[in-house]
Amino acid sequence: MFISISSKIIALIIALVLLCASGFLLLSMREHEGIYKNTLFSHISISADNLAQDLLPLMDVEQDRFEISSKLLNLGEFPLVSYALVYDKSWRLVEQYYSESLMTSHVELPVLPPFNVQSISVGNSLHDGQLVSLTTIGDESYILGYLLIVCEYQKPLTQSNWNLIVNSMPLALGILTVMFLVAVWLGKYLLRPLTQLTEFTQKIKNSSNYSQRFEHMGHDEVSFLSDNINAMLSRIEHQDVQHQKFAEDLIQQRLDIEHMGNFDALTNLPNRKFFMDVLRSQLVKAKRNKNNLMVLFLDLDHFKSINDSLGHKAGDELLLKVVEVIKIQLREEDVLARLSGDKFLILLTDVNEDIVYIAIKIAERIIKSLENSFEVMELTVQTGVSIGIADAISSEYSSESIISNADIAMYQAKEMGRNTYALFKSQLHALSLRRMLISNALVKALEQEEFEIHYQAKVGINNQVNGLEALIRWKSCFDGAISPQEFIPVAEKSGRIMAISRWVISHVFRDFQAIQKMSDTPIIVSLNLSAYDVSDEKLVPFIITQLQLYSVNPQLVEFEITESAYLDNFDKADTFFSQIRQLGFLIALDDFGTGYSSMSYLTRLDINTLKIDQYFVKSLDSSDKDKLIIDSIIGLAHKLKLNVCAEGVETIGQKEYLIGHGCEQMQGYYYSKPCHLNELMAHISEINGHSPLIINGVKDSNLRG
Ligand code: C2E
Ligand code: CA
Ligand code: CA
Repeated sequence: MFISISSKIIALIIALVLLCASGFLLLSMREHEGIYKNTLFSHISISADNLAQDLLPLMDVEQDRFEISSKLLNLGEFPLVSYALVYDKSWRLVEQYYSESLMTSHVELPVLPPFNVQSISVGNSLHDGQLVSLTTIGDESYILGYLLIVCEYQKPLTQSNWNLIVNSMPLALGILTVMFLVAVWLGKYLLRPLTQLTEFTQKIKNSSNYSQRFEHMGHDEVSFLSDNINAMLSRIEHQDVQHQKFAEDLIQQRLDIEHMGNFDALTNLPNRKFFMDVLRSQLVKAKRNKNNLMVLFLDLDHFKSINDSLGHKAGDELLLKVVEVIKIQLREEDVLARLSGDKFLILLTDVNEDIVYIAIKIAERIIKSLENSFEVMELTVQTGVSIGIADAISSEYSSESIISNADIAMYQAKEMGRNTYALFKSQLHALSLRRMLISNALVKALEQEEFEIHYQAKVGINNQVNGLEALIRWKSCFDGAISPQEFIPVAEKSGRIMAISRWVISHVFRDFQAIQKMSDTPIIVSLNLSAYDVSDEKLVPFIITQLQLYSVNPQLVEFEITESAYLDNFDKADTFFSQIRQLGFLIALDDFGTGYSSMSYLTRLDINTLKIDQYFVKSLDSSDKDKLIIDSIIGLAHKLKLNVCAEGVETIGQKEYLIGHGCEQMQGYYYSKPCHLNELMAHISEINGHSPLIINGVKDSNLRG
């Protein structure tokens, strides 16, 4: 608790004044008491002596008690006299006097005096707060009697003292007030520099600003104290500046050491340690949020030979230039680190699900950017880069695994002929990763015209082509040809199938007229539809516009749909196909026999053709049971007045069996593989027996015997 000096001084002065005043009062009271006592004693002595003189003539043998009593009554003038007793020389009580106050204050008077009168000496003395005066009546050598006068002493003295106090009180209070004001003034004006100094030191304590100084004029203790404080502040300020500089140096040194520990000296890129630290924390985050992240492992191609032939200096210069080029291809949040020599790592973190696609795009950009040659020590140098890509999910969010997986993929890229990239594919995640890749790549595939239509012939029992099945082909930019069996299900799941189906319909309709010209007899062109297409309400209007645009005869177009796609969405498929039928198109049930055990639904479908699945055709040569199934399918179809087309016919034996058992139409490698429109004419002519099948100048002898 803070108590200021000025309040202490005020308290001290007041205490001192009070002490002095009390002392003074006490002394005054002593003095007053002495004067009072002496005055009273002399007064009583004189009165007693006078009264004794008056009593002397009355104390002879014939004592005149009446006279004595009347003399004693004169004592009534002295209000302090309580009582008086007159004794003869033998101490026999002669007469007494009692004051009025004594008489009224007692119902019954006590025995007076309360002490042995003979034991006290002549003169004045004090007994129990009363003044006792004993005087001899007559000369000492001839004593006729004694006069005892007893006066009130203590009570009047106390009263008198009290009166003294009361009378001196206003003066005492006045002095006290003046002293208090003086003390306050002292505290305020005399101690002001000290208070200011206190505030100044407090300010320094709070701000830690040691450059401030206390200004005080004069030659007293405060100026001496402020000079000393100012001197101390100067020293502290000096030391503080030095200390700060020292601390800054230390921090800089620590940062330098940290930088050396985390960054590569040549390229100033993060080093392996730093990269691993970031990778580990990002992996934890990605795992928690169920996100993926990618690591790209880069290894420059032919760097060693450049280093060996042109020297390390040239190698370093090349590395610096390569780093600058790579940096441009990255986004701000990507981390590029130098692992060692010509090996680099890139970390891509993104909540975007297309992160695999982004990684591939970045890898492609880096490869492309390094295709240009570099100027190194006035020489033109060509390098390239092999990139391995690994993702966190396949690497089970382990930092070591993801780096080693990216490394493995990088070696794969080197094996693939360098200057390319490879994705690490673990057994576990290859499929989902690839699906993700396909799904992302499909977006661009349509725009970049990566799809094509191939046609496969369908042949009647007269060995003439009477139909073609349009089958989509995809030459992907990232993995070459990808089978529709692989990408169609992905397109269905990612909702991209509808756009693909439209693309197919539009292209097949566009080819329609050209196809019809390839044969003397009409050719029915089949297209495959997916289960998702039948739910697409805008597809029928689209088909109608395309029909009109390319003047297609709907009676020569057949839509193929698998029985499961039809039956799983029965209502929607039924609505869709009834509209299609009304337009004049034909409908075929694809892959028949694989899905549903009960065939009773067949009566409810308004279709034209059943396509027997290739599985049954393939097993014709080996399984008698499958022969039975084919016989039944053909029999059932005919009873329902449906045409039958057998898929996957590869041998003459299969063909002959099918024809022998009433199958109207066949499709398979025995006749022709699916081919581009440009080659179709040759295929049709070959099958129809007009001219030999020549593709790229070589007769395809594998196809038919
Ligand atoms: P699918 O409709 O059953 O088509 C027949 C598949 O069997 C084709 O495979 C064809 O090349 C193949 N094939 C034909 N003859 C033989 C043969 O003798 N032996 C063997 N081993 N195979 C033969 P592709 O072209 O790979 O198509 C696979 C599947 O992809 C198709 O089966 C179809 O379901 C789907 N697909 C193809 N193109 C499209 C399309 O444009 N749209 C839709 N939605 N699906 C399509
Ligand atoms: Ca088909
Ligand atoms: Ca089929």
